[in-house]
Parts: sequence; C-alpha cells; structure tokens
Amino acid sequence: MSGKLQRVNAFTVDLEDWFQGLTSTNPQVDKWQSFESRVVSATQSLLDLLRSYQVQATFFVLGYVADQFPALIEAIRADGHEIGVHGYYHRFVSRSTPDEFARDLERSIQAVKRISGETPLGYRAPYFSINGGTPWVFDILQAQGLRYDSSVFPARSTLYGFPEAPRFPHPVNGHSLMEFPLSTVRLGGINWPIAGGFYLRTLPYSFVHRGISRLNRQGQPAILYIHPWELDLGQRYNRVTLRERITHYHGRRRLEGKLHRLLTDFRFGPLCSLLSEYED
Ligand SMILES: [Zn+2]
Repeated sequence: MSGKLQRVNAFTVDLEDWFQGLTSTNPQVDKWQSFESRVVSATQSLLDLLRSYQVQATFFVLGYVADQFPALIEAIRADGHEIGVHGYYHRFVSRSTPDEFARDLERSIQAVKRISGETPLGYRAPYFSINGGTPWVFDILQAQGLRYDSSVFPARSTLYGFPEAPRFPHPVNGHSLMEFPLSTVRLGGINWPIAGGFYLRTLPYSFVHRGISRLNRQGQPAILYIHPWELDLGQRYNRVTLRERITHYHGRRRLEGKLHRLLTDFRFGPLCSLLSEYED
C-alpha cells in the first residue's frame, strides 16, 4: 500500500496572467499589453511539478491567453492535460448579460479549438461567478457543446460564492451537464472552502489533508484549483489593492510545499476522468 487513498480527486488550474485575474487591473484591457506577462514561465514550473508526479490536470484556459501563447497550450496538451475554457476576457458572469456571456464563451471556445481541433468539455467561470442570479448560464454552456461546469463555489466569500448550492458533483437540473463544485468541508453548519487558491495558501496543510480525507471517505472527490501566478514568487505587486494583496499574495511561499504534499498523499486526475463516473 502506498498510503494514498484510492479516490481520484480533480486537480484544476485556472490559466490566466496575474493582471487578468485581479479585479483592479482586469477591466483595463487596453493596458494589458503594458503589464509584464508572466503566465508562460509560471505555467511551465507548474507543468514540471505535475510531470514529476505523473499527474494530469484540467487547465481552464482564458481565451485571450490561448490566442497570445498558443505554444503554451500545445505544451500543456503534450503533457496529457485536459484543456477546458475560462472565458475570453475573464469577466464576471454575474455582471454579464446572457448575450455578453455567450459571445465571450464562444470566443474562448474558438480560441482553444484553433489549437486543439476539439471542443472543450469543461468550463470554469472567472471569479467562480455563477450563482443563484445566473440560471441562464447552463442553457448557454449546453448550447455551446460543453459537458460540465466547475464554477459553483458553495461557500460565502468577499467576492463570490453560492453558499446554498449543493456541495458535491451533481447533474444540473434540466440539462445534460454535470456540475463539479469547488470543495468545501462542513463544520458548525457552515461550508468552509479548503482546496484552492487563497484557502489552500492560508490554511495549515493538516486541515486541508483532513478535509480531503473526509471527502474521500464519503466517496466524494476533492475538486482542487490553483492559478499559475500563485506559484510565481518573482512577481512584484505594486499595482494591487490592499484586499488583493491578501487574496492574491498571502501564503504564496508555502503553496509549492503544500502541492508537493498533496500530490504525494492523494491521487489526482483531470475532471474529464471523473465525468464518466457520473454520466449515464
Ligand atoms: Zn480566473
């Protein structure tokens, strides 16, 4: 026995540059070219890490990044990872009209298809911004050929969250789509995010380990997410707001060590490998 629990969990990556994910710099698309792009080197480090554990992940690619760096997307595919989509301009779904969302999504799918020749199966909303106010989103995802969504964050946070949503993977009511919510543990009647981004950077590893073990004992996969910029210790943060300094930068130094431990202690795969468990 390797000591690893046998349940396969999902390792997912939201592929974007640091300034595309920050709410302060995201709207300034005309200035994006003036920011230092660091997504290629940060992603290559992450690919090296995943390769050393022979783990395949799902990369939810921002369409803008796919158009700018097609060779990076090819490199991700060459390592056997799944390519999903993360929209084109990293806009809040909850602040878009259905038409705006549909256009942005289609543009991101086309950007990925030009490289892979394949329609992606999965979607992750920028800022996890699918909630009770965006019921139309699933019609559009299905109409554009997607098979699953992994955007629902069933907890409360400052920027996003859908605390009343189901915590575990489930078919989307009335659609031929699966939803893979980001992982939480339930303690004291509250859902606590454990497996990604700020939470993974900030929480002690023992807490994350207990949380994922608990999910796996319940037969549930953990759905983990990270961003390449979270592993990029060389980036300076002179442009960001105080909130962003915490949500985007706190705990970065400890993240890589935590990922090594997670990849040692648990099994991981791409979300597409979980899809067949749930689809009829
Ligand atoms: Zn993102």
